Amino acid sequence: MIELQNITKYYGKNAAVENISFIFEKGKIYGFLGPNGAGKSTTMNIMTGCLSATNGSVLIDDNEISSKPIKAKRLIGYLPETPPLYPEMTPIEYLNFVAGAKGLTRSERDKEIKYVMESTGIEQMQNRLIGNLSKGYKQRVGIAQALLGRPEYIILDEPTVGLDPNQIIEIRELIQSLKNEHTVILSSHILSEVSNICDELIVISNGKIIASGSMSDLSSKLGSGKKLCVTFKCDDYESVNDMLGILQIKPECSVLYKSDSGCICAEISDAEEQMREELFFIAADKKIPIIEMKMNTPSLEEIFIQLTSGQSQNFEHKENNDDIDLQEGA
Ligand code: ADP
Ligand code: MG
Repeated sequence: MIELQNITKYYGKNAAVENISFIFEKGKIYGFLGPNGAGKSTTMNIMTGCLSATNGSVLIDDNEISSKPIKAKRLIGYLPETPPLYPEMTPIEYLNFVAGAKGLTRSERDKEIKYVMESTGIEQMQNRLIGNLSKGYKQRVGIAQALLGRPEYIILDEPTVGLDPNQIIEIRELIQSLKNEHTVILSSHILSEVSNICDELIVISNGKIIASGSMSDLSSKLGSGKKLCVTFKCDDYESVNDMLGILQIKPECSVLYKSDSGCICAEISDAEEQMREELFFIAADKKIPIIEMKMNTPSLEEIFIQLTSGQSQNFEHKENNDDIDLQEGA
């Protein structure tokens, strides 16, 4: 396992990461989720021994990274935010170079390079210049170097950033396939990205872990309350309030507003499932048609906004509403 113990990093007087402690168990895919500037890269650079912490320690299978760096780093494959690629090399030359730097023996090298090229699907590109490869293939070469030597822990900093939707799907599948042999820790500022791939999420904001757990843990912790949204073909607030009163819905639990077509919409928070039927019969009694009724569970975005609310970030919805792109506050 990887254990972060009270990791703090100051840049001058500013804390980029403050008192982060976490245990990564073997065999899972972990997602570090947070807006730009949250401290993801700083934490990953510290975990991999590329940056020293101001305070705290990192244990990789009980090897403290600053006192036993070689043992600790052998257990890690790292793809930093900017992949450490040489554009004038071909993938095969580059992987040979990395294999040498990682201390793989000559007899191991060819077999291992073949294995990582197969795992990342870059065999056909092995003799092209890295500088001429697409961003998706460059990223695969970056992941291939991380896999060389078959380290237990693969740490990937924003592996899908800047890729097109098809490339994102391919890299996502590649990451999922790594799970059989590796523990994977990846970061992202896009919620749907990590919620799709990861077994566990660590939400980080302003240098602190603000929540962690599986996606369903996080939703049940925050968004247990379902919301019942009902549209009545009726423009009289009093009649709608009367119906909600019969169901003993407290005024603070409902929000009423008029839609563009003049119908009254009611949003009832913490609604129970049987309320749908009860409301149907009450409205039928009063001859008020219900033209729409649906039970809403909180979306991933709502959960995320709840988690990070009160902190100075802007939330910028992308065209695809499944994605939320978190930008650093001004
Ligand atoms: P993320 O990867 O989540 O976007 P980073 O770890 O890169 O966040 O950055 C966390 C904070 O630390 C940001 O406020 C960033 O501006 C600051 N920071 C990062 N690197 C440096 C540096 N080398 N010098 C000064 N500040 C830095
Ligand atoms: Mg980063």
